[in-house]
Amino acid sequence: MQHDLQSNGLNGKRPIPPVIRVEQLTKNYYMGRTVVAALRGVNLQVQRGEFVALMGPSGSGKSTFMNLLGCLDRPTSGVYLLDGLPVSKMNANQLADIRNQKIGFVFQSFNLLSWMTALDNVELPLVYSGLSRAERQRKAQLALSIVGLKSRAHHRPVELSGGQQQRVAIARALVTSPSLFLADEPTGNLDSQTSMQIIAILQELNARGLTVVLVTHEPDIAAYAKRQVKFRDGRVLEDMPNPLPIVARLNFGHSAQLSEEKQVTL
Ligand code: ADP
Ligand code: MG
Repeated sequence: MQHDLQSNGLNGKRPIPPVIRVEQLTKNYYMGRTVVAALRGVNLQVQRGEFVALMGPSGSGKSTFMNLLGCLDRPTSGVYLLDGLPVSKMNANQLADIRNQKIGFVFQSFNLLSWMTALDNVELPLVYSGLSRAERQRKAQLALSIVGLKSRAHHRPVELSGGQQQRVAIARALVTSPSLFLADEPTGNLDSQTSMQIIAILQELNARGLTVVLVTHEPDIAAYAKRQVKFRDGRVLEDMPNPLPIVARLNFGHSAQLSEEKQVTL
């Protein structure tokens, strides 16, 4: 039988899958005899290059959803395709590999190892990559310069401000060149001026093509995203484009460095 490539309407090219596609995703937590239905059937697609703000009241399932997106946990039921890969069917080892290759994750707490320098913290995700020490350090330096912290590479976390520590955490999340960047309330522990620096970095990364999903409960922060998704009681309540996102300005004096690295891929 002759196969007509034109007939699928794609001129023989495979369509690029969305970065995230979830269908009827549910997650129950079991605590003794109690079942907490944290997610109750979430449907969502996120295309490459989007910048999504995930909002909703405390307890609405945002972190549960992010943990599933980040392959840190598995759904109770439903489908999750990451870059077209059916991760909801994978076992724990496969999930760990996917997480390492495709996901960059930052949290409200910076989770840096206190006895290591910024550079060593950023290099950590590459330890099992098979790259040489020199190549790992080169990539870690580059990631630090992208967040404007090249000059702090040899400082330990206690010698850095909260905002700088979060920037190190962002560099650590970037060093593996992920296709999806997840941030769960990354500015939750920071003052508003420092929060702006973090948002500016996320916008800059998004402008370079990185897909970003950011959890925030602050409408002021969500105004910087291109799309706003609101959760309520474990479901998507509202999903709206934000046609005119506010543009954050870098104000930590390293903006030249940021744009200088613009052409570089990790
Ligand atoms: P959000 O991030 O929007 O505040 P979460 O995803 O953390 O919401 O929580 C959603 C619901 O699931 C809440 O009712 C919360 O108490 C519950 N929950 C979250 N994590 C766990 C857990 N590890 N064990 C049991 N219940 C949990
Ligand atoms: Mg949360």
